[in-house]
Amino acid sequence: MTGRAPGLAAEELVAAVVRPEIRALAAYAVAKAEGMIKLDAMENPYPLPAAARARLDEALGRVPVNRYPDGAADEARTALAHALRIPAGQGLLLGNGSDELIQIITSALARAGAAMLVPEPSFVMYRMNALYTGMRFVGVPLGADFSLDRAATLAAIERERPVLVYLAYPNNPTGNLFAASDIEAVLNATRGLVVVDEAYYAFADATFLPQVSEFPNLLVLRTLSKVGMAGIRLGYAVAAPAWIAELNKLRQPYNVNALTQAAVVALLADTTWIAEQAAAIRAARARLEAELGKLPGTTVLPTRTNFVVIRVADANGMFEGLRTRRILVKNLHGWHPLLANCLRITVGTPMENEMLLSACAELCR
Ligand code: PMP
Repeated sequence: MTGRAPGLAAEELVAAVVRPEIRALAAYAVAKAEGMIKLDAMENPYPLPAAARARLDEALGRVPVNRYPDGAADEARTALAHALRIPAGQGLLLGNGSDELIQIITSALARAGAAMLVPEPSFVMYRMNALYTGMRFVGVPLGADFSLDRAATLAAIERERPVLVYLAYPNNPTGNLFAASDIEAVLNATRGLVVVDEAYYAFADATFLPQVSEFPNLLVLRTLSKVGMAGIRLGYAVAAPAWIAELNKLRQPYNVNALTQAAVVALLADTTWIAEQAAAIRAARARLEAELGKLPGTTVLPTRTNFVVIRVADANGMFEGLRTRRILVKNLHGWHPLLANCLRITVGTPMENEMLLSACAELCR
């Protein structure tokens, strides 16, 4: 009977010791999508082309899984830097998805009382990480057209002196691209680290990567998740070596596993397939925007991502109607006042998109 807390159930022990703000949370819910057309998670709908698949299979077959991976992930970093034209002289940090890098960056800057500033609505994990680390979260509402409210953002920077700013470029879940001049104004107004999160860069024709050498407080965050490799979980951060050296201290020693490292090298040996799939997704997006825009009572909001946000008369009804037709999208209604009656639809394969369009047409009738 040694070591047993007498008379207390696990629930009582949990209540006594787990932080109340953690107990108040619900765990991140990933919707089950068995047998559904899955248009809810911004995945690339296309499988790997045969040549890339063959390179991957061959490379994975050679991984010595009895050994720890290369802690520095040198080969994967070199492959990534070369294939994605990461400017020479910059620091590069890999993560288990960009989610992990958000956690590392936030932990590094979260001293007591320090503020994180984020426009809202934006990617929810920024706020979650502020909560995990005890940072003060300062949300600045976007304009009604989802643009960055430059005056309100600069005023909040002046008032709150954030050590960390997250700007998703383009933004999730709104899909639009903030004006580059607004981002530069933020970079100039703060001494805090500004993370420009380019998860959707492949669909945006815009990037701050070249500006990393210009702004000493800029970190560009990216991921392979939206360009066909969500399953391998690989995100990367580019910033001045002085930032990366500090962030590297928070990284778990083997955060990128050996299979992922080998996969990165194999899959990025030729990147034409990534560009081709991204181009196909952009073309399909244009068709979706045009066709959804013809539906009665439907507004299509501007997007530079691999998803389309629409505003309809009754998002809850439309979401349920799609679900009964085995199509899963994201219902944004209730997330934030600016997202009232909005649905977020990931661009799928041409066939999936046609099924979505005919289901929407039926539901709008
Ligand atoms: N940043 C943004 C803006 C995102 O939308 C997402 C995924 N939804 C991520 C980061 C995380 O991506 P991952 O962890 O798959 O790299």
